[in-house]
Amino acid sequence: MNSAESSALALVCKERGWTPAEDGERADIVLLNTCSVRLTAEKRAFGRIAHYCGLKKKHKLNFSLIIAGCMAQRLGEKLKEKYPQVNYVMGTCARSLFPMILESVENGSTAVIDTNESPVFSFSQSHFEEGQFRSFVPIMHGCNNFCSYCIVPYVRGREVSRDPQNILEEIRLVGERGVREITLLGQNVNSYYWEKDGTDFSALLKLIAPTAEKSGVKWVRFLSANPGNFSNSTIEVMAENKVFCRHIHLPVQHGSNSVLKAMNRTYTAERFLELVGEIRSALDGVTFSTDILVGFPGETEEDVQKTLRLMDEVKFLYSFMYHFNPREGTKAFDLPNRIAEGLKRERLSRVIALQKKHTSALLKARIGSTEVVLIEGISRKNADELITRTEKDEMVVVPGPLSMIGSFGKLTFSSLKGNTFRAKELIP
Ligand code: SF4
Repeated sequence: MNSAESSALALVCKERGWTPAEDGERADIVLLNTCSVRLTAEKRAFGRIAHYCGLKKKHKLNFSLIIAGCMAQRLGEKLKEKYPQVNYVMGTCARSLFPMILESVENGSTAVIDTNESPVFSFSQSHFEEGQFRSFVPIMHGCNNFCSYCIVPYVRGREVSRDPQNILEEIRLVGERGVREITLLGQNVNSYYWEKDGTDFSALLKLIAPTAEKSGVKWVRFLSANPGNFSNSTIEVMAENKVFCRHIHLPVQHGSNSVLKAMNRTYTAERFLELVGEIRSALDGVTFSTDILVGFPGETEEDVQKTLRLMDEVKFLYSFMYHFNPREGTKAFDLPNRIAEGLKRERLSRVIALQKKHTSALLKARIGSTEVVLIEGISRKNADELITRTEKDEMVVVPGPLSMIGSFGKLTFSSLKGNTFRAKELIP
């Protein structure tokens, strides 16, 4: 989401005639778009803020320093108190004030813009990045689920869905500009609901399918779908339309029902497995990726075993695995029976080892398969080779002409190195 929002902010700059600086020291504006979801992301952002504040102080540089995103939303004016060199703090709901901030910088004005004034989230019109063949299209924002470990509902607010016509317009626009793959975005993407005409997520997918195809967009993905909100009608629409990629990111978080309950997830491990089964029988060859959170307060060894068993049953193609870090302001922050750091790491290492085993086995079994790929660019290691990706998000390196970048081709996986396939020939 931050990536999409950064593109939208860059577009606003471009439309006003701004160009990218070679580095921060030569810029007139430095904008840091921050993320609060993980503690590590916040720590990194603090490091960057301190770096740019230090530059301003030490070299008496005059650039305007703007802090945007979730951290700006969460900490507000406190950021300015801690870092007096920061000029503007622009939370996720105050992005619509960005043109005003730019204007003030352009005029050399020191007027104070109250970025606390605009509490309602509004969607940017476009999130397109010049020259890209893949684009994010935000369709909803915020979350009402309040999973006990998650800070998103506090920094992104309650769910707001985007006007379907606006979404279709953006898809038409990016398609015309050469985008071939889009990812519909939302913190809780499948709880999309446009109240004015009752369009829910599956109805939106139904609208999107013909628009995407007409506009030249051949692959549509979505992130992140909550298993608790995954409806039968969504599965049906996906089954009817090949434009929806046969790979779904479905964050399970844990395999133990007692932990899922403590996390305030709204499904059980059994329901998750049932859902995976329903999707598999409707979508031929579909693969899954997931998020797994270990070391939640009170988690027992038996709970870990249940997670490992669930992983064994589903066999995710890949997972984002992490251990619990308490976030102040969330319910889980105050839960007793925290797991010791060492034990959390040990449990996480077992989950990672099992995932590596599954990924490796699934990928090896694919050697010899013939797939359609989107050609994304030139390989960094060899200028004669192209980087391509399948609809299942598998990376394949293949020799081929530069003229094919941005189009689709067909190839056969001949070998595997790490998690990257190689192919000998690319057929247009
Ligand atoms: S559904 Fe996702 S974004 Fe919403 S509270 Fe849970 S983890 Fe956070």
